[in-house]
Amino acid sequence: MITLKGAEVSARIKEQVAEDLKKLDGKIPALAIVRVGEKPDDMSYERGAKKKMDSFGLQAESFVFPEDISDEDFKAAFQKICQDEKITGILLLKPLPEQISEKDIDRMIDPKKDLDGISPENIAKVFAGDPTGFAPCTAEAVIEVLKAYDIPIAGKRAAVVGRSMIVGKPLSMLLLKENATVTVCHTRTADLKGTCKNAELLIAAAGKAKMLDEGYVGEGAVVIDVGINVDEDGKLCGDVDFQSIQERASMATPVPGGVGAVTTAVLAKHLVRAALQQAE
Ligand code: NDP
Repeated sequence: MITLKGAEVSARIKEQVAEDLKKLDGKIPALAIVRVGEKPDDMSYERGAKKKMDSFGLQAESFVFPEDISDEDFKAAFQKICQDEKITGILLLKPLPEQISEKDIDRMIDPKKDLDGISPENIAKVFAGDPTGFAPCTAEAVIEVLKAYDIPIAGKRAAVVGRSMIVGKPLSMLLLKENATVTVCHTRTADLKGTCKNAELLIAAAGKAKMLDEGYVGEGAVVIDVGINVDEDGKLCGDVDFQSIQERASMATPVPGGVGAVTTAVLAKHLVRAALQQAE
């Protein structure tokens, strides 16, 4: 089995970003990372995103708010960030605390700065196959991995395990745009094993540690693992039991070192695209 390495895909995206940056006449796009509270997962993602922006020659600034900020105060602060001309794009770390209406925030974000595709406008564009929209970075990262390794998508049977608005659903639409035949699986899927096993492209985005073992993988399938979980030994792992699929899959992404590294590279790509679109 071939291991699909996120770092290699990220390096390829970096080259594209460098080319696009040249069109901005020296202007360096700036990312605003908006975080509420001190969740370790958010902080780790934030560090990774900042490191990536730095290595791609882009700016990033964090806007951090206390966990108990009121809905009204957060909305006022968020509005300011959206309107700040120095900010090219925004990454909002979710989920937000309960007292803040996430739906309202999704509608408030300026679609032109919405790099992770949370606004209704960008969701609609992803579903319509309109390339001017921003898809959620993780969903797009899966497509980037497949393309970087020249893995055919058109005409293939793809199974996506997970139907969240941030990964499963948009990813299904992106795969459909690439002409895959897509099956979306979830907790009510009757024959999950059979459906997964029948897929030529299996994408795991369920958030369940090592849930998909060799029994779920068809002979020669390509397996992309979006999951980020912690196993019983406290180690980072995906939704796929990477060791057990070695003899069955033809290629697979590891966790860590797979899709995660590509997600922040897509964020950087979106940031530069936002700058170019705003300059038009
Ligand atoms: P959610 O919890 O929002 O969604 C999980 C989805 O998986 C749901 O649709 C759920 O079905 C489905 N699911 C859960 N358990 C099963 C099961 N046993 N059988 C079938 N389907 C199941 O998670 P997210 O989409 O936000 O994230 C998914 C994973 O991806 C997580 O591990 C997360 O950490 C990771 N992630 C990784 C990123 C990266 O950069 N690599 C970025 C974002 C997320 P139902 O709808 O029926 O409940």
